[in-house]
Amino acid sequence: MSHDHHHGPTIDPERLAYYQRMATAVRELLIEKGILTDAQIVATIKKMEARGPALGARVVAHAWVDPNYKTRLLLDGSAGVEELGIPVDGTRLIVVENTEEVHNLVVCTLCSCYPRNILGLPPDWYKKAAYRARAVKEPRAVLAEFGTVLSDSVTIRVHDSTADMRYLVLPARPAGTEGWAEDKLAALVNRDSMIGVQAAKEPEQ
Ligand code: FE
Repeated sequence: MSHDHHHGPTIDPERLAYYQRMATAVRELLIEKGILTDAQIVATIKKMEARGPALGARVVAHAWVDPNYKTRLLLDGSAGVEELGIPVDGTRLIVVENTEEVHNLVVCTLCSCYPRNILGLPPDWYKKAAYRARAVKEPRAVLAEFGTVLSDSVTIRVHDSTADMRYLVLPARPAGTEGWAEDKLAALVNRDSMIGVQAAKEPEQ
């Protein structure tokens, strides 16, 4: 995975040990009470681990090569994602497109709502108070800290995620990728470009 620009605080090992013991205790209790089986828990963890930015990248690459798909995706993100066989967890997904005029940035000001079904777990900085507050107040400055310096003529739209509405940014397709196959294009799409803090990677010359 790509390098994070803002590193979270290191987790206190004592706290980690506490949560690990608690997780084990809860898990054992759920199994003992017959609420869940061990196999169900293992299957759920596997399913969660299979979710990651590669799924979102597939969606983006497909939208880049198929304009009709892109239109459908922008109209109904959930249906567009499902069309590629990627399960949607019931939360409404909205896809917003970055263009030369508009740059979209995703935040959850309240907590850390994030399109986990296609991007996996959110990065640490996404969950931090600083990003959550500043992304709304001074998006241009926040973007610049991620190395994304936008001209003043570009309108920035900040999207505040909620429990029932998640956003995925469709980054602009990099120049010099004409005729590329979808999987090659998908490799240019990293997590941060789908949150909107960065552009998609440029092709190597
Ligand atoms: Fe949230």
